[in-house]
Amino acid sequence: MDQCEFLETCYFAKNVSDAGLKESYCDSNPLRCARFMVYQGAEASKVPDDLMPDEKVKAYEILANS
Ligand code: SF4
Repeated sequence: MDQCEFLETCYFAKNVSDAGLKESYCDSNPLRCARFMVYQGAEASKVPDDLMPDEKVKAYEILANS
C-alpha cells in the first residue's frame, strides 16, 4: 500500500520522531496502524495524541466505546 492518507493531519506523523514506526506503518502499511484504525472506524477527534501505531488493543477499546 502507499503512504497513509492521514500523514498531513496525524499527530504521531507530524510530531513524534520514530523512523522505524513511520517506515513500518506510515510509509508502507497504514492498514495495520492503530491510529489509522481509529481514524477510519470513528473520527479524528477520537484519536488520542499519545496512541502509538502498534497499540491495537487500545484502538479496539476506543472503537468499542465510540
Ligand atoms: S501513525 Fe498511523 S494514522 Fe498516523 S500517519 Fe502513520 S499510519 Fe497514518
